[in-house]
Amino acid sequence: MAEMTKKQFQAESKRLLEMMVNSIYSQKEIFLRELISNASDAIDKIYYKALTDDRLTFNQEDYYIKITPDKDNLTLTISDTGIGMTEEELEDNLGIIAKSGSLAFKNENEIKDGQDIIGQFGVGFYSAFMVADVVTVVTKALGSDKAYKWESQGTDGYTIEVGEKETVGTDIILKLKENTEDDSYDEFLEEYRLKTIVKKYSDFIRYPIKMDVIESKLKEGSEDEYEDIIEEQTINSMVPIWRKNKNELTDEDYENFYSEKRYGFDKPLKHIHISVDGAVRYQSILFIPEQIPYDYYSKEFEKGLELYSNGVLIMEKCADLLPDYFSFVKGMVDSEDLSLNISREILQHDRQLKLIAKNIKKKIKGQLLSLLKDDQDSYEKFYQSFGRQLKYGVYSDFGANKEDLQDLLMFYSSKEKKLVTLDEYVKRMPEDQKYIYYATGESYDRIEKLPQTEVVAEKGYEILYFTEEVDEFAIKMLVKYKDKEFKSVSSGDLGIEEEEEKKEVQEENKDLFEEMKKVLGDKVKDVRVSKRLKSHPVCISTEGEVSIEMEKIINSMPD
Ligand code: ADP
Ligand code: MG
Repeated sequence: MAEMTKKQFQAESKRLLEMMVNSIYSQKEIFLRELISNASDAIDKIYYKALTDDRLTFNQEDYYIKITPDKDNLTLTISDTGIGMTEEELEDNLGIIAKSGSLAFKNENEIKDGQDIIGQFGVGFYSAFMVADVVTVVTKALGSDKAYKWESQGTDGYTIEVGEKETVGTDIILKLKENTEDDSYDEFLEEYRLKTIVKKYSDFIRYPIKMDVIESKLKEGSEDEYEDIIEEQTINSMVPIWRKNKNELTDEDYENFYSEKRYGFDKPLKHIHISVDGAVRYQSILFIPEQIPYDYYSKEFEKGLELYSNGVLIMEKCADLLPDYFSFVKGMVDSEDLSLNISREILQHDRQLKLIAKNIKKKIKGQLLSLLKDDQDSYEKFYQSFGRQLKYGVYSDFGANKEDLQDLLMFYSSKEKKLVTLDEYVKRMPEDQKYIYYATGESYDRIEKLPQTEVVAEKGYEILYFTEEVDEFAIKMLVKYKDKEFKSVSSGDLGIEEEEEKKEVQEENKDLFEEMKKVLGDKVKDVRVSKRLKSHPVCISTEGEVSIEMEKIINSMPD
């Protein structure tokens, strides 16, 4: 077919194309991700063919993707040394929207796990029209001696003619739109902008993504004269750290990844590298930060992990991957088993995601427990920053997560004068001690001086000091730990006093107590004998299971 013919997109395609350009993608920059993904697929196809075809050899260094901005002509070219397209394939794959040559390839070649081929919907290519007025494709298929040129201005159809190209592969040439008041397009010719987009979405494409970069370098033999030198650079890192073997990676590698990704400005306390090959396959690197992000306890804070599908970034903050009580965890998940929607920005079904989230939750808990066991100092650092979040987690959702979280809690101990776990407390309990005692107050110092603590302390029992509002709410939700009930030192029945003896004294001094009650009037409900006082003459206590501190909080809540 030598002469040029103009073909119309099918009617549905026209509408689809308009829809696509205007609404499917949330950001224009996505076009680059889509074209690079296609280029990578095209190279993968040669790779797969070479696996089964002895006449083909695959030399890694022959395969790459190149991005070439041309400011003079306002064009951006994305080239690849992939499998290319025949005239028929051009017609089929680029003439029919929602037809994916890549999906067909996967099926024909029975690439079951299809780990690497990204395309499946047959729409990504058209995202080029978000930024370009004219898209030209020059391509030469593997095993063909002819090149073809496909060109389209968007909705009004496309042309195919014989083209010129020496080597096998494809060039996609975008004639960028003119800038408007609201939108700029020439930004996609800026070296820095292009690099940023590639890093963001396509950093882990397996083949090098190259670009000619102008570097100002010291002239040879000179000490102060510079010259501009064009240097071909590879912009992507190619092998994602999460696909590397854990044994080959050092703490420093993980720390670098943490700061490169800007997960935080601190040094992470711990990293978790997960590689699962089960019902859902995924890899993940998670970090437990040491410091609280400045906005952590504010409304602005958004939890979530980065989500990749086959090494391509799909979502920057996938909130569904983390429970609220682990919202401080940073990191990423990459899975080849996600069902994506057409824009590849959201997920079609969340079954896989739910499985991954469940699994991740377990791993985080396990790692925190082992940190607590093996390196209590670090755990305490972590707990100072995020303990509050864990306690919120215990009482939110009606206590649904309390089992998961109770072993991660720590409270200040009257005996140890430092944070202890509930497990430590219970293990130390003397045999006759019935309850886990706690006292609430503004500070450890203040609690120490509370008359209510005296009798418990005198008995030699340990008391947990609660200084945060959430402490007592969390404990109320737990009710018990290892069958031991929690008991406020200010509650009526401490399970210590000898009841009979008390009754006698109460009876003997009946008149005195009646008189005191009269004088105090509404301020108290009753006046009773207590055996819990040692150095203080009187104390105020509450009846039932609500402590004075908690009563204060409840009374201060709006109705
Ligand atoms: P998808 O990638 O989901 O299949 P696209 O709209 O991105 O859909 O691309 C449509 C088809 O066009 C691809 O499946 C592939 O067959 C073909 N194609 C696109 N770009 C290239 C390229 N650079 N090299 C070879 N084939 C390509
Ligand atoms: Mg594609």
